[in-house]
Amino acid sequence: MKTSLAALLLTLAISGCALKPPAPAVVSVAEWGGTPADAAKARRHTITHITLHHQGEPFKAGTDPRQYLRNLQTWSRNTKGWLDIPYHYIIDLEGKVYEGRDIAYAGDTNTEYDPSGHALIEVVGNFEEVEPNQAQLDAVVKLMALLAKKYRVPVEHIASHRDYSNNTVCPGANLYRYVQNSYFKEQVALQLKGE
Ligand SMILES: [Zn+2]
Repeated sequence: MKTSLAALLLTLAISGCALKPPAPAVVSVAEWGGTPADAAKARRHTITHITLHHQGEPFKAGTDPRQYLRNLQTWSRNTKGWLDIPYHYIIDLEGKVYEGRDIAYAGDTNTEYDPSGHALIEVVGNFEEVEPNQAQLDAVVKLMALLAKKYRVPVEHIASHRDYSNNTVCPGANLYRYVQNSYFKEQVALQLKGE
């Protein structure tokens, strides 16, 4: 029958789309209880680099990431006088991705490099002390691949905070290892090829 054939073709078309690796679901600022930044004070930029950070402090199991983000937003604005959370994306212990500062706005830093043009990713925890888990590593790869594709960032422009600053060990030795041995670059290249 004509109708069922059309329905079948439609189903095939839809399932064909579903074969692509799913983009990571990102928890929005509104969903974690944050408030948007003042656009009038924002420094707009164009993404050319992807740069990895860590929290630099222990993130205890059982900590509510949403509460952590609300605290980070308040501290960033009230104590540091920044526009917002310095990072555009934050990855928790389970590899869940949260929206931070609007990616249209350049980030902020305590060190001397200019983060303008950089998509900034923070992974919670202190990787001078602990190892990143596989869920976190997978989330970093997926998010980097998504950003690389969306903003046409070459994999050579994937690096980390300490690659731009001599004043920090960020993202911590145990996470930096994956930057240094090109794990992230290679995994992102594979993801982009697979699409
Ligand atoms: Zn950093």
